[in-house]
Amino acid sequence: MITNKPAPDEFKNLSVQYLAQSVDLLLKTEMALTQGDWGADEVLEEEWENRQGILGNSLIMLFLSIENYFKYRICKVDPLLLIAGEPSRWGLSKGNKNFEDLFIHQFDDLLVIYQEITEEGIDLGVKQRLNELRKKRNKYTHGLHRAILNPKYIIESTAIYLTSLWEENWTRDFKSAMLTEPLYGLTNEEEEQMMLLSYFKIFEKYLTANELRKLIGMPSTGRRYLCPYCKNCSIESGITVNPNYALLVPNKAESETINCWLCECLIDVKRSSCILTECHGNVIYAKDTHYEHTSNCCLTCGSAQNR
Ligand SMILES: [Zn+2]
Ligand SMILES: [Zn+2]
Repeated sequence: MITNKPAPDEFKNLSVQYLAQSVDLLLKTEMALTQGDWGADEVLEEEWENRQGILGNSLIMLFLSIENYFKYRICKVDPLLLIAGEPSRWGLSKGNKNFEDLFIHQFDDLLVIYQEITEEGIDLGVKQRLNELRKKRNKYTHGLHRAILNPKYIIESTAIYLTSLWEENWTRDFKSAMLTEPLYGLTNEEEEQMMLLSYFKIFEKYLTANELRKLIGMPSTGRRYLCPYCKNCSIESGITVNPNYALLVPNKAESETINCWLCECLIDVKRSSCILTECHGNVIYAKDTHYEHTSNCCLTCGSAQNR
């Protein structure tokens, strides 16, 4: 018998953790280079050219994430499908064999099995990108990569992977696997949302508006508003970036509810014009003693509505 067979979630958790590390490497460097000012929107070409090692590591982590994601999907059908080589050579004749001591298929084989078990043909463009990533990963691990990498390539590849292959809601999977240290008196859940906010911002910097919406599962139309809950958290945690990932639902002029793609909350809003003449916003968060930083505030420009 083969003992100690893995559970699918072991691979899924690994996949999320590698992905988080891949993005974290880019995020921490970007934040150090821009001093956390995402609004600056600098491309930082030269700075990144001098940091190829970080980009290489980020790419390796992304690749490991994809590889483990395939293992997760295959393992859900049967962990035995992961084992390479002919069954007669698995060495079971001498008694039990620990799963860990057997060889697992390499990436190309995992890709073929994944397509067979999911019966999903992978889009040609996605396949090409996976192949390219595999080649780059090999070159990096052997120290032979000469072409310049940039963060846009890695973020784009991440978006393609999460949009085309990840079957569930990746933001939820991410939040549940994130390791956050409760600082600033926020709850764990709020910490996770703030972490996710930084991820959204770096994705936003390197993706088109449509690519970002597709990645986070947001409809492609509708003006984006600040979320009063997330904005309150971001102020409390000292983050200067705007959590503006909320839309009116339904997307109509008279709607009095917004939905936030970070905290996934539905929030009641008032419809009245912002007191600032230069702001054309008319979505206002009512007075609220619990969310003191965003009480009575315009969700377009963020200013308090006190005359
Ligand atoms: Zn929110
Ligand atoms: Zn305003």
